[in-house]
Amino acid sequence: ESDLDLRRAAALIREVPDFPEPGVLFRDISPMLADGAGLRSVVSALGRDCEFDVVAGVEARGFLVGAAVAQAFGTGVIGLRKPGKLPVVADRVDYALEYGRATLELPADTLRPGQRVLIVDDVLATGGTLGAACRLVRQAGAEVAAAAVVLELTALEGRDKLMGEEVRALLQA
Ligand code: AMP
Repeated sequence: ESDLDLRRAAALIREVPDFPEPGVLFRDISPMLADGAGLRSVVSALGRDCEFDVVAGVEARGFLVGAAVAQAFGTGVIGLRKPGKLPVVADRVDYALEYGRATLELPADTLRPGQRVLIVDDVLATGGTLGAACRLVRQAGAEVAAAAVVLELTALEGRDKLMGEEVRALLQA
């Protein structure tokens, strides 16, 4: 898997103006994931040269990518979920969004203390979501191996919210 594969995959990201609200340029990775070569290049680049025991994917596109990474690298996968979905919650973290608040929950009996976790999501925007995911992992006594995304929107400076974490972005815009 090469940079060329990744560049080909990048061309499959669809940009949608004014979604989900006016002024936002939404980056939809769905066409990239629907392409076999695109999915393969993203999955292998996300997990490459990283030591991790388990993957944590952020709802919902992080589930798709995270599960594929876990399978490819022989680990299990944990879904970090929006509130109200899990029957038994181990822990939750509330965090600020650009407008309003959000919550991520860790399912019970999944993450074990000391495990090295590769956190996976599609897009790093303001960094609130990945920051919350890192906090959930640490509060469980586990380690963040890296916070890995397909695409980082650099102008939003989300990386600054993840100081001290290893941030891995395959593509930047
Ligand atoms: P943030 O917490 O601001 O870093 O936002 C990250 C979450 O919101 C990710 O789970 C993304 O799926 C989603 N997101 C935020 N901005 C965008 C965007 N411009 N395009 C696609 N997804 C986005």
